[in-house]
Amino acid sequence: MIMLENVMEFFRNLPPKKCASCGEHMEEQAEAYTTVCSKCAGTQ
Ligand SMILES: [Zn+2]
Repeated sequence: MIMLENVMEFFRNLPPKKCASCGEHMEEQAEAYTTVCSKCAGTQ
């Protein structure tokens, strides 16, 4: 249960990451502090 708590703590510290343009989840962009996904940002 200790590991489960750590995972929950990890996700609690993460703001819900959604693309501001298409509203899609941005799991791959966890390290990028952009508001849109790579597709909408055109950096793909
Ligand atoms: Zn998008």
